Amino acid sequence: MRCDQCDKKITGPPVKTATRTLCARCGDTLDGLTAGVLAGGDVGGAIATAGWYTSLRERRREAQEKKRRSGS
Ligand SMILES: [Zn+2]
Repeated sequence: MRCDQCDKKITGPPVKTATRTLCARCGDTLDGLTAGVLAGGDVGGAIATAGWYTSLRERRREAQEKKRRSGS
């Protein structure tokens, strides 16, 4: 199964929308966009929210990596 957004193979649980199947990463970006729009932001604000969401997730992943490396 491939992500309709980035065309990468989906390894985790897929994120299904009404029309597309996305990987978790693209699904998060979409969630961020939706959250931004629902919060009353304009499109620019919504994209900023999506970017924030994605960077937050990446930071979390980096922290997990560090923890795993230091633990071994
Ligand atoms: Zn994707």
